[in-house]
Amino acid sequence: MNQLFMPTRVILGKGCIKENAPLFSDFGKKAIIVTGKTSARKSGALTDVIDALKSQSIDYEVFDDVENNPSVETCFTGGQKAKAFGADFVIAIGGGSPMDAAKAVAAFATNDMAPMDIYGTIKNKPLSLISIPLTAGTGSEVTPYSVLTVKEIENKKSFSHPESFSKIAFLDPGYLESLPRSVLYDTAADALSHAIESMLCKRTSDISNVYAESALKHLGKLIPDVISGKPDYEKLLFASSLAGMAIAHTGTVVVHSMGYLLTYHKDVPHGRANALLLPGFLKLCAKHVPERLAPVLKAFGAETVDALCELITKLIPEQVVLSEDEVKIFAQKAIGAKNVCQNLWAITEHEEASVFSALLS
Ligand code: NAP
Ligand code: FE
Repeated sequence: MNQLFMPTRVILGKGCIKENAPLFSDFGKKAIIVTGKTSARKSGALTDVIDALKSQSIDYEVFDDVENNPSVETCFTGGQKAKAFGADFVIAIGGGSPMDAAKAVAAFATNDMAPMDIYGTIKNKPLSLISIPLTAGTGSEVTPYSVLTVKEIENKKSFSHPESFSKIAFLDPGYLESLPRSVLYDTAADALSHAIESMLCKRTSDISNVYAESALKHLGKLIPDVISGKPDYEKLLFASSLAGMAIAHTGTVVVHSMGYLLTYHKDVPHGRANALLLPGFLKLCAKHVPERLAPVLKAFGAETVDALCELITKLIPEQVVLSEDEVKIFAQKAIGAKNVCQNLWAITEHEEASVFSALLS
């Protein structure tokens, strides 16, 4: 089905927060800022946001306890803090971890519910959200998804709500200049995976492909510069958001659900998990759905699937090694993921094991 739904106002450019400070006043008089430990300060984004809030006489509190791959409990704590403060809206500053956490904080702030109830029906509308990405990868600033770590299931699990889309996403490429090289690689691989998975799933549509193909065209030109550590951050941020808009329409498929297990059990950063699994997945696509893979290669500008896989491999700063047992257990678990049914062919546990097997020592 073709449907376009992209309710986020995206403002892109250096200095965009300062230039648009009055926009914050549309959302109320009290803001809770949700962020990680260091990046909002290091990048300069926190100072810009606080200056903008002060210029509009908006009171604020900072919740900076968000860890990488945030837990449901951390978000619940943030929600209680937002409630106690009487926040009118939420501002997320960070990579995917704080941006996803902020979506859950916004929901906990307006609902009396236990942490795991976030995966049920969310009765009251979450608080309005403004997002400021500090990485170019997750596209969380333009998706309704929030991927959280859940100890009970020893995995990551996402929730979404139509009101979890950010009302505004401020994309300032200057904030990406403080990115460590490894995070730059990991997050670029995530953006690439979003665009590729969006084009290779049952929910792919003409509309989602407008975003995904455009993201891939940009990424095809940008990835070599990412590898050398000197990308055009404005273009990279734009490409990552385009890939986010693509998955906002289609979701992701098995690369992501398999990758969550590498993150939970082996502490592999999210984007790197995708980079490790993408080559195996793409080779399966070449076998089962070559006619669907061809437009992906064309948009990216790769002559062959091997050429694309070779480039992806260059984004992996550190190898991850799995044991035979881990391959078996992860494949058993991954085949039960809810997005497996969105794969273009009936992927088997054996095939998922073959993708994990690339990581055997
Ligand atoms: P991240 O976990 O948000 O951040 C990784 C590390 O990079 C953190 O230590 C962070 O520091 C640091 N960092 C981030 N930006 C920086 C900057 N500009 N300068 C210096 N350091 C910086 O990484 P991410 O890859 O962006 O997000 C991953 C999360 O997003 C995962 O939980 C994944 O599941 C989720 N995700 C969500 C979606 C979606 O649609 N919602 C899609 C894909 C992935 P701090 O700790 O100080 O912040
Ligand atoms: Fe992702």
